[in-house]
Amino acid sequence: MNVIIFGPPGAGKGTQASNIVKKFNLYQISTGDLLRAEVKNKTEIGKDIENIISKGDFATDEIVNELIKKVIFDEKKKNKLIFDGYPRSLSQAENLDLLLKQSNQKINFIFFLNVKKEMIIKRIEKRKILEKRADDNLNTILKRYDTYMMTTKPVLDFYSKKPNFYEIDGSENIVEISSKIEQILTV
Ligand code: AMP
Repeated sequence: MNVIIFGPPGAGKGTQASNIVKKFNLYQISTGDLLRAEVKNKTEIGKDIENIISKGDFATDEIVNELIKKVIFDEKKKNKLIFDGYPRSLSQAENLDLLLKQSNQKINFIFFLNVKKEMIIKRIEKRKILEKRADDNLNTILKRYDTYMMTTKPVLDFYSKKPNFYEIDGSENIVEISSKIEQILTV
């Protein structure tokens, strides 16, 4: 099965995705991680990406779509994908549909972790102490949230009409959310 975990920055997508990965033997595909790896490995596009991420902007669809293509056509990962942080724009969602069709796959479950802005700010401030991500300062957080509202919200409208769309209250605790997701996945 293939799964999308969707929601604003700080909603807990990464945490939930890694839990499902362990329990259901899937591969977590985080475009954020893929982009950070380009920066770390000092690739040609890494320098541009570093600037974009630290400002709280989005990487271009072109860059992200190229990174995701490699993953979707990886035979080992076929039908074992959890997308965390992708798609983040309508054009990415359309690209994902296309790549899945071309590789004979589909999305089985879409989870939307719904969390209010105030709670996200609190959570990311806390994560700053624990993880030290370059993009975890208040200005960047607010910018990331606004970018999300503008670019990613239309993707939510697109997916929320699908029959395999599930909205989960992301303000609950981690264990509670995991158990709700697992219940749906095991039906
Ligand atoms: P994340 O780890 O998912 O919070 O992503 C961190 C940052 O990477 C984001 O704030 C964006 O700058 C960039 N990024 C991650 N995924 C995408 C995507 N699908 N499209 C564009 N930019 C992305």
